[in-house]
Amino acid sequence: MRTIHRQIKVEILCEDELSDEEMQILINAQHARLKAQAPLSHYWVGAALLSENGNWYSGCNVERGDYTSTTHAERNAIDSMIGAEGPAKIKILGISAAPAHWVLPKDLVNPMLRAFAVDDFCFACAGCLQVIWDNCCGDISVPLLVLTQDRVIARTTIGDAYPMRFGFESLGIDVKEGRKS
Ligand SMILES: [Zn+2]
Repeated sequence: MRTIHRQIKVEILCEDELSDEEMQILINAQHARLKAQAPLSHYWVGAALLSENGNWYSGCNVERGDYTSTTHAERNAIDSMIGAEGPAKIKILGISAAPAHWVLPKDLVNPMLRAFAVDDFCFACAGCLQVIWDNCCGDISVPLLVLTQDRVIARTTIGDAYPMRFGFESLGIDVKEGRKS
């Protein structure tokens, strides 16, 4: 038997450790979250991204009366980018998710004062990790940020959040060009 290992890194941050872009992403994600149409789950999600071309997009989760046609916030934001720019690359993406009644308290958790495990963080569902990866254009270093309902800011990369990937690259397709390489 042979075993191979890979480390997954999650950075837990104070607010003042965020770049201006990262701060804006989380602000936009929180604003988008407040627009959620989620009468079934009562779980509001907002996602925001900055495209490689320098444009901001955001989206919320949208639940439908048939229960099965839900749009996840990450897909809403990414599809807005594609609708405006065509198949573009994500530069950075952030998510804020919590039950509907949740309001961001003033003080975020100081990461030095608590113990954490990687399992404490969910950056996106498995389906959305696939959707995000499809517009990372093969770049595993695209940052993902999350503001959790426990008032914690965490950062990882798509490569760490989705370690065993399948996507356009697996098919030899350049999504921006829309053809096989
Ligand atoms: Zn999702």
